[in-house]
Amino acid sequence: MRSGRSCFFIFIRNLESESSATSPSWKIKPLFQSFKEISRFSAVKKTFYASITPYIILIRNIETEEVPRMTDVDNSKSINLRADCENCFGLCCVVLPYAKSADFAFDKNGGTACPNLQSDYRCGIHKNLREKGFRGCTVYECFGAGQKVSQITYKGKDWRQNPEIAREMFEVFPIMQQLHEMLCYLNKALGLEVTKPIHGDLQNVIEETEAITALSPKAILVLDIPMHRAKVNELLLKTSELVRGKVKQNGRELAKGRSLIGAKLKGADLRGSSFRGALLIASNFSDSDMRYCDFIGADLRDADLSGADLTGSIFLTQAQINSANGDKNTKLPPSLCIPVHWVP
Ligand code: SF4
Repeated sequence: MRSGRSCFFIFIRNLESESSATSPSWKIKPLFQSFKEISRFSAVKKTFYASITPYIILIRNIETEEVPRMTDVDNSKSINLRADCENCFGLCCVVLPYAKSADFAFDKNGGTACPNLQSDYRCGIHKNLREKGFRGCTVYECFGAGQKVSQITYKGKDWRQNPEIAREMFEVFPIMQQLHEMLCYLNKALGLEVTKPIHGDLQNVIEETEAITALSPKAILVLDIPMHRAKVNELLLKTSELVRGKVKQNGRELAKGRSLIGAKLKGADLRGSSFRGALLIASNFSDSDMRYCDFIGADLRDADLSGADLTGSIFLTQAQINSANGDKNTKLPPSLCIPVHWVP
């Protein structure tokens, strides 16, 4: 097993837009659109962080023996939508800030390299992140944006050897991450038989999104990401309807965008539920039937999925699964795997 470097990123749910069931807007949005915003966040994070904590997901992909690296994509394009830390210049470990908490052992400002990031862009503690107090680093997924920016957008020029490009590269990375996340979900939707009626639309938007990711850094920085996201989200909502329509029953929209923090739903029949943007932190879903659910943007940190059946559920990522708890009896979609930390 090669040594790896993993990384983190922060999202915040767009709770306002979630209040409208018919809104085509994306149900989560990045907390930061640019490096400038990240810097501003760093300056005030000590007071601000606590207030947003209930609304954030710290999603991190980890490349260790403990947690296999996978994303919820199961077609040929997936190779480009998985983090490949070996070919990334440690972007998430530099660009993004973190605050001392249960997830991180100390504070770090955005735009400064994590002290654990080595000169070869690998994490010096990657095998012991949880033990060292960096659990937040284990649940991040860049969807392949790191290597895309490092090797394609900047053609292998790294920010340490070329400090004049560092700031721009750090601004491009979060935008690329959003685009790759959209591609991940779109490709997942395209791989479903039930979405056949919209395969043409999905293919068109995938090609459009891929073309955008190939633009120059300066062109990427002026993209209207919210507008593109709205177009993508329209198709993802249709996908959700088609998938959940198989089993949808009255009342299944209750969880949509809602806080279910600490909810006691052991053994519940939740088939076809929309958990889009829902706060499911520390909820008990053990032995629940969660087939054909939509989990886009759902915060599953410390949720108990022991024995739960999530077969056929969509827009669920390995990072979300890694942040939850479960056991060997949890049934996951085939592209996801049981994290090793679930099985003592
Ligand atoms: S501890 Fe630092 S270098 Fe290691 S994965 Fe986390 S942010 Fe990256």
